[in-house]
Amino acid sequence: MKILVCVKQVPDTNEVKIDPVKGTLIREGVPSILNPDDANALEAALQMKDRDPEIVVDVITMGPPQAGYMLRECLAMGADHAYLLSDRAFGGADTCATSTTIAAGIKKVGDVDLIFAGRQAIDGDTAQVGPQVAQRLGLPEVSYVQHYEVKGNAVEVQRQLEDGYEVLEVQMPCLLTCVKELNTPRYMSVGSIVDAYQKEITVWNHEDVELDPRDCGLNASPTQVFRSFTPPQKGKGEMLSGTVEEMAGKLVEKLAEKHLV
Ligand SMILES: Cc1cc2nc3c(=O)[nH]c(=O)nc-3n(C[C@H](O)[C@H](O)[C@H](O)COP(=O)(O)OP(=O)(O)OC[C@H]3O[C@@H](n4cnc5c(N)ncnc54)[C@H](O)[C@@H]3O)c2cc1C
Repeated sequence: MKILVCVKQVPDTNEVKIDPVKGTLIREGVPSILNPDDANALEAALQMKDRDPEIVVDVITMGPPQAGYMLRECLAMGADHAYLLSDRAFGGADTCATSTTIAAGIKKVGDVDLIFAGRQAIDGDTAQVGPQVAQRLGLPEVSYVQHYEVKGNAVEVQRQLEDGYEVLEVQMPCLLTCVKELNTPRYMSVGSIVDAYQKEITVWNHEDVELDPRDCGLNASPTQVFRSFTPPQKGKGEMLSGTVEEMAGKLVEKLAEKHLV
């Protein structure tokens, strides 16, 4: 059985700060990390491999050459092979073009029984890529997976909802997008980090995955970002004074002024 995990290198958004004077994002020194939901997706695949060592776990990403560092981290966690889709032609992609390229890469990997992706990437934040990849490959897809169990040729999945979960059964091959409640990702060991640097990363360009440059990257992106800006800082907080009744009265007045009550 072959499992493929879609992983993305993202800036650690916990480390991104806003310059209080200029109001711009401070990006210097912000580390790049494996997208958190993707770590859960990889952990899910590795737990299956722990139970059955015959299972092959591969990882795939589309990104610049630096994404190779994140792939090494995945290899050090226990992945068998890593694929990097990297080409100038893939640059400037929106989610539509990103998923076209990733699907082309998955086709080239071939014979995949189960595909895992994260629910959402913490930078783009759209949660669109997983379902779009499944659609491009003509595969069934379940998003927000918080628990799953393989039963023969099918997977029984708990899909997270706002106030509970639903249980679905889906035939393999299929794509599942994972949430953080699924598991706790493992750490890399020192030995596995050393081993990861001995492994090769397969790098593919648009020709390797049989994509015309007109069908990927900016050229194939129906959406374009016109402007990006830092949201304005929230106004100062205000302290109310007086007796409890007076403060409650002032609070209600202020809420009414803002049409909140
Ligand atoms: C209108 C628009 C224009 C954009 N223009 C640019 C641009 O010019 N340059 C640029 O760099 N980015 C651009 N982006 C961002 C780019 O589209 C996204 O980073 C990318 O498509 C992934 O979307 P996301 O981050 O929302 O991922 P999500 O859909 O939130 O990710 C869900 C899951 O999909 C998988 N996944 C997502 N991306 C990848 C990947 N690259 N490789 C492997 N797996 C992945 C992961 O498993 C991830 O957890 C643009 C986005 C939009 C909406």
